[in-house]
Amino acid sequence: MGPPLSAEAVPTPDPSRKREGRTVREAIAAATTRLNATSETPRLDAELLAAHLLGIGREAMLLGRLDDMIGKTEFDALVARRAGGEPMAYILGHREFWSLDLAVGPGVLVPRPDSETLIETARAHFAGKAGPESVLDLGTGSGALLLAALWEWPDARGIGIDRSDTALVWAKRNADVLGFATRATFRLGDWADGLEGPFDLVLCNPPYVETGADLPRDVRDHEPAEALFAGEDGLDEYRRIARALGPLLSQNGIACIEIGASQADRVARLLSAQGLRTRLFRDLAGRDRCLLVHS
Ligand code: GLN
Repeated sequence: MGPPLSAEAVPTPDPSRKREGRTVREAIAAATTRLNATSETPRLDAELLAAHLLGIGREAMLLGRLDDMIGKTEFDALVARRAGGEPMAYILGHREFWSLDLAVGPGVLVPRPDSETLIETARAHFAGKAGPESVLDLGTGSGALLLAALWEWPDARGIGIDRSDTALVWAKRNADVLGFATRATFRLGDWADGLEGPFDLVLCNPPYVETGADLPRDVRDHEPAEALFAGEDGLDEYRRIARALGPLLSQNGIACIEIGASQADRVARLLSAQGLRTRLFRDLAGRDRCLLVHS
């Protein structure tokens, strides 16, 4: 027999140790409460963050892993980033666009589903015709529009321009990882300055937010301002693009230009002043979103 146990030797429960052993289910519930104030989708965000940490898909986690244990420190660190307003796409490191999984992070605009309207519009235009052979993406960011077009038209080649070299790092990486490296070129540049066309398809999602507009906090505080804001009326970049666009289009070439929901008439006027014709297309929410432009 050993010496009698002194009172001090009796192990006392350590509350922090107890919290360390937390199931995925418990962690998600706690995180949902914490994210309520920041996010419109707190439960979904909490689930995606947990699945990210476990290295599995959200469905697989929900179907079979909710009773697993999850590391509190690591999970809380992810939840804290989201609670601080960081976009989910930056925390997870990727975002899907047109079924392509694109890597994104600070310094590059998160691709929005609204922008898929441009690819949808171009696809409808080229249906039953020869697809575009040459594509230009002005303000390519993560490469989303260009890579979606190259995926859609396997014989096409394209150039993505951006004035942010950080964005171009993401775009090149996406082109490499997704297998488009031989068909996509990326260049640092100011819109079409120094570019030689013509192109069968020009895609462009320029900055179009009015200076001082009230954007959601995660967008305003975390996404690159230079990809969002375009002067008092949000039209500064359209003025420049409208002047450059005509000579960039091949004979049957078109451009698909993203617009803010209230800008269709004003942007169409800027383009028609340059002798270009436009047709308006709406996004899935029914908002004006894309001008199809041709000469
Ligand atoms: N649609 C984006 C937003 O509202 C704006 C993107 C842009 O300016 N091109 O956050």
